[in-house]
Amino acid sequence: MNKILSTILSLSLIVMFSCKNQEKEEKVTKAEEHKHWSYQGETSPEHWIEIEKNSDCDGKRQSPINIIDINTISVDSAKGLNILYSPETILNKVVNNGHSIQFDFNSGDSIVYKNEVFHLKQIHFHESSEHIINGVKYPTEIHLVHQSDSKKLTVLSILCMEGQESQLFEFFESFLPIESGQFKNIDKTIDLMNLLPEDKSFYSYSGSLTTPPCTENVNWVVFKQPIIISLEEVLKLKDNMPINNYRNEQPLNDRKVYYNY
Ligand SMILES: [Zn+2]
Repeated sequence: MNKILSTILSLSLIVMFSCKNQEKEEKVTKAEEHKHWSYQGETSPEHWIEIEKNSDCDGKRQSPINIIDINTISVDSAKGLNILYSPETILNKVVNNGHSIQFDFNSGDSIVYKNEVFHLKQIHFHESSEHIINGVKYPTEIHLVHQSDSKKLTVLSILCMEGQESQLFEFFESFLPIESGQFKNIDKTIDLMNLLPEDKSFYSYSGSLTTPPCTENVNWVVFKQPIIISLEEVLKLKDNMPINNYRNEQPLNDRKVYYNY
């Protein structure tokens, strides 16, 4: 009798234990389904298409790219970009979204590109740069994201190299440190024109967002002349962002890159 009892007991224990295990496995699978993209390890850019299944991340017209001068088509159309930032752009807030430091602007500032108006939404940073020029990567790249009324995107890209400190960069960094997931209200005015390089000639091509969902048909405007910021400024920004928050170069495929002078 005792033997039968103990057999039943141990059998039921095995059943209970295996049920628990199954439950645990299910929970793990569910947690994996919701895992978020990042720049490191199992959720790094190579895995974005597995994480964001319906995204464009495996598309044929992706960003960033390596821009090689001798392969660009020179066009006399730098005037096709008209930057209409007011000297008193209102910086609304700074956010650490876990991928980058992002500054959001109040509506009002815009650019006209190829006869279409795009409103300035936000700027954020990548270290090191995402775009590569003639095989050279820069320490920092700034993206100024603009959207038209029909939801089309134009991103202005400013590459940064190290040298003297930049006053405007100091102003942006005066709101740091900021931890992942946090934001700070700012409501101060700045003259964003001071952030742009003196030489306004630029490369242009049709690409994508460089973060999931990697949406394509984004107009890219990459200024040829980098701006100068100090090593301290590079490092301070770096301290507030995930390490290496850049996506690697994507194949150009059949796209053309223009140099607009
Ligand atoms: Zn970006």
